[in-house]
Amino acid sequence: MRSHTIEKFRDSLLRWYGRNRRPFPWRLNPTPYRVWISEIMLQQTQSKSAMPYYKRFLERFPDITSLARAPQEEILALWSGLGYYSRARNLREAALRIVESHNGVFPSDHATVLSLPGIGRYTAGAVCSIAFHQPQPVVDGNVRRVIARLEGILSRIPEKYFWDRMAGWIPENNASAFNQAMMELGAVLCLPSQPLCPRCPVRRYCVAKSKNLQNRIPAPKQRKTAEKVVLVVLVVKWKGKILLVRRRGGFIPGEWGLPTRIVSPGHSPQETAESLNQSLFGGRLQIENNSVLRHSITRHRIAAYIFAGRATEPALEKLKKGEGIHWAGQAQLEAMLTSSLFRKAVQRCRA
Ligand code: SF4
Repeated sequence: MRSHTIEKFRDSLLRWYGRNRRPFPWRLNPTPYRVWISEIMLQQTQSKSAMPYYKRFLERFPDITSLARAPQEEILALWSGLGYYSRARNLREAALRIVESHNGVFPSDHATVLSLPGIGRYTAGAVCSIAFHQPQPVVDGNVRRVIARLEGILSRIPEKYFWDRMAGWIPENNASAFNQAMMELGAVLCLPSQPLCPRCPVRRYCVAKSKNLQNRIPAPKQRKTAEKVVLVVLVVKWKGKILLVRRRGGFIPGEWGLPTRIVSPGHSPQETAESLNQSLFGGRLQIENNSVLRHSITRHRIAAYIFAGRATEPALEKLKKGEGIHWAGQAQLEAMLTSSLFRKAVQRCRA
């Protein structure tokens, strides 16, 4: 778009946004704290589903200090149901950092915001533009789709292209409304399939509309083939508690989980469970196969062989104590076990 066209495009978009924007609670009084919380919640959750969580969260933690002081379990409990729990843990870590390093005041410098735990380029752009009115771009799935259609882009192109476009279009003095308007357009009119072009305020600038390409943009993603994984999962009980281990990466979500090991080709689940038993308890745990659980996580199709065991003193002697080991009671399991695979495994070993 040429510069005078960009101005007209912006005017049409902003006028439409001013009249049609949805009245979300996070749009009232958009302080940096409120914008931050809402943007983190909305990363993997639809606005409608996030709304009750957002209200409850803000009632319990109205500011950065109350969030920083809260125990992690309480934050995770309020987050329960939203999924992707690392978001909640990062919120607390970032709140602690803001209290310790910025006297509890949300920083306004873009680079500093970007350095906070759990904040990436999108969230930093959203907080700096919406709360601090800085001309920082944001690009999410909605914005990407709107730009691709406006420009009639049929092929997959690098992410940088979209950021550069937004940086070039964003008005110096109204970044907050412009960014939100682009996202709103993608969310309510420029829908992934069957966009509502006759109602679109910027249809006269849209290449996809003029060439009838709307439903070919964005280009369909290549489907990744499913990956089969065979796992053993240990459910070990001791005094009414269950053994959790700190997880380091992998495709199962959550910082804490049940002990697992992938069954390598040529080995049986029983052998793999015994090898896990050996590394955790020196082989002293009595284990038995409980059942097999079928479960999918993203493209992983998992067959999880669940082995149950009760810890005894000789087995416990071999268990390494320390940071990466935790015996969790019922309430802690609720808060700490974020993967539904692990929750189902515990459920199967209830008796
Ligand atoms: S005219 Fe249609 S395809 Fe183009 S931006 Fe508007 S809604 Fe999207």
